[in-house]
Order: sequence, then structure tokens, then C-alpha cells
Amino acid sequence: MKVLITGGAGFIGSHLADELISGGNEVMVLDDLSTGSFDNIEHLDGRKDFRFVEGTILNEALVDKLVEQCDVVYHLAAAVGVDLIVKKPLESLITNIKGSEIVLEMVYRYHKKVLITSTSEIYGKNTNGPLKEEDDRILGSPLKSRWGYSTAKAVDEMLAYIYWKQKKVPTVIVRLFNTVGPRQTGAYGMVVPRFVNQALKGEDITVYGSGKQSRCFLHVKDVVNTLIKLMNNKDAEGKVFNIGSQEEVTVEELAKKVIDLTKSGSKIVYIPYDKAYEEGFEDMQRRVPDTGRVRDAVGFKPTINLDGIIKSVVEYSRKH
Ligand code: UDP
Repeated sequence: MKVLITGGAGFIGSHLADELISGGNEVMVLDDLSTGSFDNIEHLDGRKDFRFVEGTILNEALVDKLVEQCDVVYHLAAAVGVDLIVKKPLESLITNIKGSEIVLEMVYRYHKKVLITSTSEIYGKNTNGPLKEEDDRILGSPLKSRWGYSTAKAVDEMLAYIYWKQKKVPTVIVRLFNTVGPRQTGAYGMVVPRFVNQALKGEDITVYGSGKQSRCFLHVKDVVNTLIKLMNNKDAEGKVFNIGSQEEVTVEELAKKVIDLTKSGSKIVYIPYDKAYEEGFEDMQRRVPDTGRVRDAVGFKPTINLDGIIKSVVEYSRKH
């Protein structure tokens, strides 16, 4: 198949490109290299089954042309990372809402199938766990960047769902929980690469808030394999799926684990949220997915545990 990946030079998109190419597909990547990087796809450059197009999903004419040429679209291009959406809220909103609107309009125009990547931020402050796809969203003020981001991604989901329901466009929606692995940068806030880099440099490990908040981390390889299975599953159309690990860890425990695994002399320092992000910042205290639906649909089961995930990030960071 000819596959278009928007955001294919990003952390997740580039692993998806690798996997699709090794499965015998032809891959086109559209990426504006804002948070993605050419380094992530450099090893694919020059292959006959790979093409990189530098450009934005906001360029309607370009998206029109590329969607027409492909069979299916994985739409991953988005403004991501809590740090980035707090620092550049307007750009984030425009990319996430208008960009997705353009991609969906084009797949409708050319009768293509699309997988839309959404986020666990959809659930907001709902700390009930494990969270099911139909659970309530609990959000703070839309004037706070984080909840604006959550709302923008909810608009993407609504558009994808309505295009399926009303226009019969084959759309699949996935909500990615914390995803980690090689090529992820700590520059936009992501905790695991940040802690690993701090530990390797012997710098203080910056735990935000009390460190008692918890997350579940899934390796990017498990994520991309699941995306491909869902794309190839007819029954997944018109549905939304959580994808994430259920191995829960507090941020404080994570910091200790990283120190242990890197044998680092770094110390943990605690930084209030107001200082780390912005005045009035609200974090989720807990975020665990219910993954029953994706397990039933495609047999989802994580293959790499938290220690394995951290080791893969350490190995990558040492090399780069
Ligand atoms: N975090 C932290 N120190 C950092 C970066 C993040 O303690 O240097 C915390 C952050 O406040 C959150 C958790 O780690 O509670 C996960 O953050 P990340 O940005 O990776 O993902 P998300 O907040 O989207 O779950």
C-alpha cells in the first residue's frame, strides 16, 4: 500500500514509517520539521519506497495532492508536549484544529481511510482508573492552555467520528497514553527523556509537584504495531481506542528508577508546577487506561516493560 504519514518525521511517526516500510509498504512523510526532525528519517532517505515532503498540514493544496496519491493516511501531525502547548498556545490550537480539518476534508474528497491520533489528555482531570473510552471528560477552564489542547483534540475526534457517521469516511481514532522510546526529545516537556538526559549528565532530576502523580508508559514499538493493526481492521472504523500501558509508576519512583538504571549521582529536586509551567497550571494526578477494547479488537498486549523502556531511552541518549 501507499501510505501517507503526517508528522512522519516526529518521534512516533518515524517509528511508524520504519515499521510500514519493513512490512513492504510505500511511505510518504509530510512534516514541517517544527518538532519533528530530519535525523529521525535520514536512514530512510534515498530509498525507492520512501519519500519525504517538507511542508505543513495547513497547506491545503499540498495535503490535497498527497492524499490523492496515497491509499491510506495516518494523521499524526500535531502540536504536542505540555511544555510546547503552554508556550505556543495559538500555534498549537491552529495546527491541531485547522490541520486536522484539512486532512479529514481531503480523505473525504478522495475516499481514503484515515487513522486519527488523539490523546489521553481528552480525559482531563478524571483520575478514575482505569479510564474507559466512554468515560467522562473533566476539564478546567478553556483559558488554561492544557484544557484548550484537550478541547482541540476533542474537536478532532468529533470531526473524525462525524465524517464516518454522516459521510461514511472510514476513520479510526486512537487515544495515545504516555508513549516513550528512542528519538523522543525532552525539549517539549516529556518526562522520561528529560530524566534520562539529566541523569546521564549528572544534573538534578526535576520532579514537578509532589512527584506522587502517576503515569503508565508504553514503548513506541508497541504503539506503532497497534496503530497498523487497527488501520487494517475493518471493525475498528468509526470507533475510538485507548492505547497505553497499565504499569503505573509515580513520577518520583520513575526518577529513582532512572537514577538506579543509569547509576547516576544525580539528586532529585522538587519544582512547583507554577514555576515549571505557568501560574495556575493543573496536572493530572493519575492516568491509567482501560485497554479492553483494543485488546479485543487486535489482541493488544505490551511487550516491553518500564525497565526495558528506560533502558532503550538510555541507550539512545548515550549514542546521541
Ligand atoms: N514531569 C516532571 N519533570 C519533568 C517533566 C515532567 O516531574 O522534567 C512530570 C509532569 O508534571 C507530569 C509527568 O511528569 O506529571 C508526565 O509528564 P509528561 O509531560 O511526560 O506527560 P503528561 O503530563 O502529558 O502525562
